[in-house]
Amino acid sequence: MVPGKRVMSEKGLRRKEIRAARDLKRVMSDYYYRMDRISRGEDGKIAWCTSVGPAELLRAFGFEVHYPENHSAILGAARTAMDYIPLANAIGYSPEICSYLASDVGAYLKGETPLSCLYPGIESVPKPDLLAYNTNQCRDVQEWFEFYGREFRVPVVGINTPRALVEIRDIDIANVVGQLKAMIPTLEEVSGEKFDIDRFKESLRLSRRCSELWGEVLGLAKHLPSPWTFFDGTIHMGPAVCLRGTQEAIDYYEVLKQELKERIESGVAAVEGERFRLYWEGMPIWGKLRDLSEQFSELRACVVVSTYCNSWIFSAFDENNPFESMAQAYTEIFINRAERVKEEYIAKMVREYQVDGIIFHDSRTCPNNSNARYGMPQRLEKRLGLPCLVIDADLNDLRCYSEEQTRTNIEAFIEQLAQT
Ligand code: SF4
Repeated sequence: MVPGKRVMSEKGLRRKEIRAARDLKRVMSDYYYRMDRISRGEDGKIAWCTSVGPAELLRAFGFEVHYPENHSAILGAARTAMDYIPLANAIGYSPEICSYLASDVGAYLKGETPLSCLYPGIESVPKPDLLAYNTNQCRDVQEWFEFYGREFRVPVVGINTPRALVEIRDIDIANVVGQLKAMIPTLEEVSGEKFDIDRFKESLRLSRRCSELWGEVLGLAKHLPSPWTFFDGTIHMGPAVCLRGTQEAIDYYEVLKQELKERIESGVAAVEGERFRLYWEGMPIWGKLRDLSEQFSELRACVVVSTYCNSWIFSAFDENNPFESMAQAYTEIFINRAERVKEEYIAKMVREYQVDGIIFHDSRTCPNNSNARYGMPQRLEKRLGLPCLVIDADLNDLRCYSEEQTRTNIEAFIEQLAQT
C-alpha cells in the first residue's frame, strides 16, 4: 500500500493528503482551546509574541504564547482579510502598510475571529497579559503591538534589533542580549514568577529540537521527486511557529518526518511526474494557496523550497549559552540580512534542492519580505543561469491579486523552463 491517499480536488486534479494532518489538527486545536481556557479564567498567563520574537523567554516564565501573525494568516487563508482591512484603514492605518496588521486589527475592531469557526466555543482571540515584539522582521510589528497595548492596557516589551546586516558583530549580539535581559523584570512582574535560568535553558533546548526537526522535514524535499511541497509546508509549519519551545511540537514533527520518509522509500511524489523544481521567495499568498498548488501540480512543477518556511529553522539555539545564542538566532534570520547575504542563501538553496527556477512574490504590503525590488531576480538569473518570475500580489489583500495575470505568467514561466 502506497502511503499518501490521493484526493480529487474540486477541479479534478490530484493532490495527496498528508496523514499527519490529523495530528496537526489536534495539536493546533489543543493549543487554541488551552489559551481560550486561560483567557476565561483558568490558571495561567498569555503573552502575544511576534512570529520570530522571544518566545523561548516567554515560555520560561510559563506564558502560553499567541502569535497575531498566525491569526492573520488564518484570516488570509479564509479570504476574509478584505472584510477587515477597511476598518483598520478607517482608524488611520494606511492601506499601504502590512495587511497582516490591518486585517488583524480590523477583525479585532469588528469583534470577529475565524477561530470561532475552526474551534467551536471560542469567541475571541485569547486576551493578552503582555505583548512582546522583535523588530528583526519589520517595524510594523511594533506599531501593531503598541495598538493592542493601548487597547488592552497591558505592558508592551520589545527588542529593536539592528537591521539589514551583512555580518553579525559581537556588538549586535551584545545589544540584543541587553534588550532580552531588560525584559526580565516586566516578565517577572506580569507572570508572578522569578526568572529561572534552568527553565529558560529547557525552553531553548525544546525549541532547538523543534527547529532541527522542522529543518529535517523541509530538507526531505531535496529528494527527487519531492515527497511534499511548499504549499504543504505552509500548513504544517503551525507547530514550528506557535509551539516551538514545547514537547508537543517535537512529537508532531517526529510523526510527520516518519510519514515523509515512508513516501520517499515508496517513491511517492507530491507532484505526479515532477518535471520542474521551483524556489518560492517571499510571503505565501494565503488566499490562493490551494489554487496555486493545483496549478503547479497540473504543470508538473513542484515548489520544493522557500525562504518563508525555512525562516523557522534556528540553528544557533544553544541551551548552554542561552542569551547569546538566542540573540544570534533571532538576529541572523534571512529577513534581517543585507541583500548580498540573502542572495548567497538563495543560491545555496537552489543548488541543494536542484531548483530549475525561482518565483519571487512581490507582496504589495510587505516590502520587508519582498526581495524583487532591488534587482535581485535579475542578478540571480545572471549568476545562476536560471529564470526568475516575479508575481505581483499580496499576502492577505486579494484586491492586489490578478487571477488571470498570475495564471498566465506562471504558465508562460513553466513553458520557458521546458524550453531551456
Ligand atoms: S514581515 Fe511583512 S507580513 Fe510580517 S508583520 Fe512585517 S510587514 Fe507584516
